[in-house]
Amino acid sequence: MGLVVQKYGGSSVADAEGIKRVAKRIVEAKKNGNQVVVVVSAMGDTTDELIDLAEQVSPMPAGREFDMLLTAGERISMALLAMAIKNLGHEAQSFTGSQAGVITDSVHNKARIIDVTPGRIRDSIDNGNIAIVAGFQGVSADKKDITTLGRGGSDTTAVALAAALDAEVCEIYTDVDGVFTADPRVVKKARKIDWIAFEDMLELAASGSKVLLHRCVEYARRYNIPIHVRSSFSGLKGTWVSSEPIEQGDKKVEQAIISGVAHDTSEAKITVVGVPDKPGEAASIFRTIADAQINIDMVVQNVSAAATGLTDISFTLPKTEGRKAIDALEANRSGIGFDSLRYDDQIGKISLVGAGMKTNPGVTAAFFEALSDAGVNIELISTSEIRISVVTRADDVNEAVRAVHTAFGLDSDSDEAVVYGGTGR
Ligand code: ASP
Ligand code: MG
Repeated sequence: MGLVVQKYGGSSVADAEGIKRVAKRIVEAKKNGNQVVVVVSAMGDTTDELIDLAEQVSPMPAGREFDMLLTAGERISMALLAMAIKNLGHEAQSFTGSQAGVITDSVHNKARIIDVTPGRIRDSIDNGNIAIVAGFQGVSADKKDITTLGRGGSDTTAVALAAALDAEVCEIYTDVDGVFTADPRVVKKARKIDWIAFEDMLELAASGSKVLLHRCVEYARRYNIPIHVRSSFSGLKGTWVSSEPIEQGDKKVEQAIISGVAHDTSEAKITVVGVPDKPGEAASIFRTIADAQINIDMVVQNVSAAATGLTDISFTLPKTEGRKAIDALEANRSGIGFDSLRYDDQIGKISLVGAGMKTNPGVTAAFFEALSDAGVNIELISTSEIRISVVTRADDVNEAVRAVHTAFGLDSDSDEAVVYGGTGR
């Protein structure tokens, strides 16, 4: 008998009808002879609504209470889903993250899983139940406080449980048919990918693709858990994310040269103006940012003007960390020694990802030509072995994504990119 972990996102369980539809799918998997563990997100936009509510009560809610509040969303969906399954004549039990043995560090709002001890889940399924686990939450090892894993964290819960229970596969059910060559909300002609390697998926996730979370893919790669991303609204096969290509019929799916185009409008750019061009300057800027617990993305240093001996350093970071970064740099202005700070949150990032970049000359040139033909101006550039990213004006992003998608021959002949649900909020 196989063990499958299935994860259902908020748009799949947005209302009572959705919960009943998902319950039927889960029961099917059980009837097919599997042990089934389900991880569920909060219904629809519940998490956003809880955040709005918290902000009305307090502009800076304490992390501990904020997490306590947000985890309520998943408690609602897990209990309702268990009820719906029982109504179909099957046994189901729901568990909070803490009860399921999801142990985390104590960084509220973005806790990391440090251990999973799923004894109660194992007992529950061995006794013939379908186990339903609240996603996106755990309990801190030291203080025993309830924590959350950061937005979209249910995917990580699912993969972590799949690893701890030695599951055959982790199925992530969402509101699109799989991983596409671009966001189907932006590119109507995006194509569904049959198989993608962990490495390419990691780059796409890091570059703003929202279908899977970076941390979830990282976890899956570390424990070599194949992920099957598919829709809970259609019966179609989705996208396999794994280390080795899947077999399809008698042929193996080939690795694509270009896996896809990702975009991200959640970042801002800070320019530190008038920095002395001498050793230690970049170190003290980024030490200041690191001490504020802020993750940065791209970094660019301008050539210094010979006359002044001063240079500018720009970097990108999540918009949500903008205020904190500016405050931290201002507080350390005399220590670092700079003239002024510029903050720009009207930027967007477009990234082209593909393992084939390593061996195919001309990818970079074709990428820049596509952007130039679309009249898009480039502000920053960064690359990895299998990715090229540029920063542009936020207004140009959608146009740029479509232009690059077409230029690399990724457009499909049919409009197969269906978005079944979700408000995209
Ligand atoms: N409900 C949480 C969120 O919206 C976690 C998740 O859906 O994965 O971020
Ligand atoms: Mg999600």
